[in-house]
Amino acid sequence: MKVLVVGSGGREHALCWALAASPLVSEVLCAPGNAGIAEEARCIPVAADDVAGLVALAETERVGLVVVGPEQPLVLGLVDRLRATGIKALGPSAAAARLEGSKAFTKAFCARHGIPTAAFRTFGKEEHAAARAHVEAKGAPVVVKADGLAAGKGVVVAMSVEEGLAAVDAAFAGSFGAAGETVVIEEFLEGEEASLFALCDGRHALEIGTAQDHKRAFDGDQGPNTGGMGAYSPAPRLDPATVERVMTEIVRPTLAGMAAEGAPFTGILYAGLMLTADGPKLIEYNVRFGDPECQVILPRLMTDIGQLFLGAVDGVLDHMSVRWLPRHAITVVLASRGYPGSYRKGTAIRGLEMLKDEPDLLVFHAGTKRAPDGRLLAEGGRVLNVTALGSTLAEARDRAYAAVDRIDWPEGFCRRDIGWRALGR
Ligand code: AMP
Repeated sequence: MKVLVVGSGGREHALCWALAASPLVSEVLCAPGNAGIAEEARCIPVAADDVAGLVALAETERVGLVVVGPEQPLVLGLVDRLRATGIKALGPSAAAARLEGSKAFTKAFCARHGIPTAAFRTFGKEEHAAARAHVEAKGAPVVVKADGLAAGKGVVVAMSVEEGLAAVDAAFAGSFGAAGETVVIEEFLEGEEASLFALCDGRHALEIGTAQDHKRAFDGDQGPNTGGMGAYSPAPRLDPATVERVMTEIVRPTLAGMAAEGAPFTGILYAGLMLTADGPKLIEYNVRFGDPECQVILPRLMTDIGQLFLGAVDGVLDHMSVRWLPRHAITVVLASRGYPGSYRKGTAIRGLEMLKDEPDLLVFHAGTKRAPDGRLLAEGGRVLNVTALGSTLAEARDRAYAAVDRIDWPEGFCRRDIGWRALGR
């Protein structure tokens, strides 16, 4: 079977790498891909949000399975369009993608189905005064969220009432465009954050891994929020008993609820969790793999990913199980200096060839491009993911940083403390 992966980041490089190793897969295509993916897959310049272009590509190439990396095409209905054309696709319908596309939808859904999450209220633009009064009544800390997709920038954890009020005002003033026309004001949850990834076939869910990420740009969780500067798997706080609790109290009721409401969920359900003194609570859902979490989940899987993805699309996950390597994975993101603000493009990266045959080491590309003369150039904010495996997390971490130190890219930076929370215990 030919597989088409949609996207161009480190997540999609990991997906292409894992799918290329599947005995069920004859060829991997990627749209649009990047310089690293081009070594694994045939890259085709169709943008990840060009729904019509992607459907046409899948038809022309007679693709047997489409795997969608980012959220945007899912929310735009790519999977609905592919299924209508008779093409198998791993990912939710637009209706099911509302679990990520609308925080107001998800919070109301959790309330309807008794899924543990932070207490909340939702306010429309016309309720500006009521939203402000609610922030004042609740006091700080309080969390203010734009309803829609805001590229991870729509959430303010306000440590003072003034900050909370400013967040409400900013959302209603249009800071997040249409995404901020509705805001959710939430109770602040205390605890440790961790993520659980479930592969879903509409009715059944299989845990395929746990992870913890690092959102801030600099060491010690300082600096601005980013798409993610590193991750490790498994998340030690998500021990088997806690995973079972999350599956029973959060993931399975979500699948049952979505099916009952006529929007069965197929694809990767990424549960962002707060492990509170009262047990695990849902912070948010994403409807796809995380980036960089995917880069630590897939290298640990022993079960064939092609078989698992087809099992999800065909609705037979109840007959399947997942096996993992008994190892720890860590990924360190190398980003362009200045990220997540402005940065220079086109700087040269050297030294990756030397890392090619290193055992227990994988370099997944994100924003890279090959120059006509063959040099590798940095083209984006997040540029490389150096992923290592080890029998302990510390061993994996040391292996990853030893590789990072052999990459010659003066214009890049990374955090030096990925894994600190788990390693410090
Ligand atoms: P979200 O986009 O909803 O995942 O929120 C982004 C980040 O804000 C989360 O990863 C948490 O660190 C933080 N956050 C969101 N909601 C809450 C909450 N109710 N209590 C505490 N922190 C939160």
